[in-house]
Amino acid sequence: IIRLQGVEKWYGNFQVLTDINLDVRAGERIVICGPSGSGKSTMIRCINRLEAIQKGQITVDGTDLTGDSKAIDTIRKEVGMVFQQFNLFPHLTIVENCMLAPMRSRGLSKAEAQERAMHYLTRVRIPDQAHKYPSQLSGGQQQRVAIARALCMAPKIMLFDEPTSALDPEMVKEVLDTMIGLAEDGMTMLCVTHEMGFARSVADRVIFMADGKIIEQGPPAAFFDNPQHPKTQQFLGQIL
Ligand code: ATP
Ligand code: MG
Repeated sequence: IIRLQGVEKWYGNFQVLTDINLDVRAGERIVICGPSGSGKSTMIRCINRLEAIQKGQITVDGTDLTGDSKAIDTIRKEVGMVFQQFNLFPHLTIVENCMLAPMRSRGLSKAEAQERAMHYLTRVRIPDQAHKYPSQLSGGQQQRVAIARALCMAPKIMLFDEPTSALDPEMVKEVLDTMIGLAEDGMTMLCVTHEMGFARSVADRVIFMADGKIIEQGPPAAFFDNPQHPKTQQFLGQIL
């Protein structure tokens, strides 16, 4: 459902992604890890065209992302994204945050958007918070709203960029549980995370990046118990 072929990206003279090749099947759950600055966020952001690439090709659900801006609109509807910072609109209530995009770009009526918003807020187990503002919620609750908001667009793919790393430890579990629920429902997921317990139990494949390259990948058992590359071994030695 996602294919990256020979992707290269520079910021000025600095090459941030080098020859990235990646195929993701529908329903596959991928965890991406690697040292700070290795290009994880950049790669994720290229997949929903928040960043342009200079070389190579990215195809998402049959649409070539290097194409025109119409292709980009299509992709944005199909790919949901959740960031480390929750990025909720502070002046809108929780339910309004979830209603905005479906009304604007999926053409839902207000009633339809509200019904859908409440459906997903119920699913992330915070329907009772619907009429509060983001600042009135805990970090874990805000992140679950961000996930519900993305789901309201009925995406085929969900991208997560360190969704739990800005959270207090006691709130990490509630967000990971939400993500585990999504995985169980068969959502195609790419998650940048250093939550290795999550990676072990949920991922079909773990990808390790360093210096803008995919250095190593494999099923979690092999990846964690028998890493091949010295950089992977060093990285896992530091975080496990
Ligand atoms: P982290 O674990 O810290 O989030 P990361 O693997 O997500 O790191 P990226 O954010 O993708 O890394 O950044 C990769 C490299 O690109 C870093 O060296 C970073 O400084 C650089 N970089 C990122 N965004 C920009 C930008 N807008 N302009 C210039 N350089 C950038
Ligand atoms: Mg990052």
